[in-house]
Amino acid sequence: MKFGRTQQGVMDGSESGTPFKEIAASVLAFLDDQSLDPTPGNYELGFLYRTDPESLAARSVDGVLTTGAKLRQDQADYILGAYHALVRTQGASPEAAPEAETRTGARLRHQTLQLHDLASDAVSVTGQFGRDLTAELDQIEVESLPIARTISTMIARSSDAERNLVAALKEIDALHAEVAAAQNDALRDSLTGLANRRGFAAELTKGPGDAPLALAICDIDRFKAINDRHGHPVGDRVIKAVAESIARSCAPHVVSRWGGEEFVILMDGVTLDEAYEIIATANQALQKRAFRIRESGEALAPISFSAGIVLTQRTRALDAIAAADLLLYRAKQAGRNTVYVQDTALAA
Ligand code: GH3
Ligand code: MG
Ligand code: MG
Repeated sequence: MKFGRTQQGVMDGSESGTPFKEIAASVLAFLDDQSLDPTPGNYELGFLYRTDPESLAARSVDGVLTTGAKLRQDQADYILGAYHALVRTQGASPEAAPEAETRTGARLRHQTLQLHDLASDAVSVTGQFGRDLTAELDQIEVESLPIARTISTMIARSSDAERNLVAALKEIDALHAEVAAAQNDALRDSLTGLANRRGFAAELTKGPGDAPLALAICDIDRFKAINDRHGHPVGDRVIKAVAESIARSCAPHVVSRWGGEEFVILMDGVTLDEAYEIIATANQALQKRAFRIRESGEALAPISFSAGIVLTQRTRALDAIAAADLLLYRAKQAGRNTVYVQDTALAA
């Protein structure tokens, strides 16, 4: 079982004066360990891994290695692709971003999404590995103490790896948001054309601060399965179609894209019961839509969302999202395709 880099594998490259020959040998040894061909791309990734251990690329490689698996060529390719994309984004100015999403932009977004999925899979596998080891430790008799000690060390390493991966995952999410922000115009999400978070905040300033307002947060159910089965480009098209469907059902209320497959709806001058009606009706309308994969004609299973709704005021709307999010979480736990409304006794 491998746990990412060994101490001796971490090198500081030119900064600490490590001779180039030594680095090259270590990169080749890394590629050999992973059974990867010494192609220029693989070499570049190996070089990053050996010389810049804090880089997102190196930590993503660690994400794979902590699962105990070797790095596959396709994983190496998209980690390096995402790294290149990141370097390009850091050099690009948001003002220069075109209004519509470019093909390069879409590719970049998909790479960060794949990286996210890779890292989150690795987090769950690493976590499970730690738990398996802990369970194993409980079974071991006192006589076999050296084994117990070895396992304890492995558990410690596994939970370190898990912490590192969680940190890497946060960074990937931030990168994703950054990429999205660079591609959006100031207030609109480029994929769906809905208001983005900034557009949502701008919308909040448009009415009296103390007027009552219902706020719903909706999250597509089991969306990751669509990505996993059909790929991110199809996932994108589904997000776009769901956005259109929700926006049409909820009009004239403002629908914004809050995050990946999450939407926030502002409903002025409605009671909680009315807000529930609007959102539940939007959910039913969405489920009635027959989605098909354009290329193959394959039908997708009906798509639903879960939602949390609270009553608030414009000036408190951002705090209210946290409360709505909690209701959404409970709706998911209750089995999904569920809309939960704040207890009216608490609605003020
Ligand atoms: P749940 O019912 O619990 O909400 O399950 P889920 O699968 O919808 O939730 P999860 O949060 O596990 O997955 C959301 C996925 O959405 C993960 C991420 O890869 C994907 N995603 C986020 N933004 C985008 C996007 O812009 N395009 C595509 N295609 N996928 C996205
Ligand atoms: Mg979500
Ligand atoms: Mg979801």
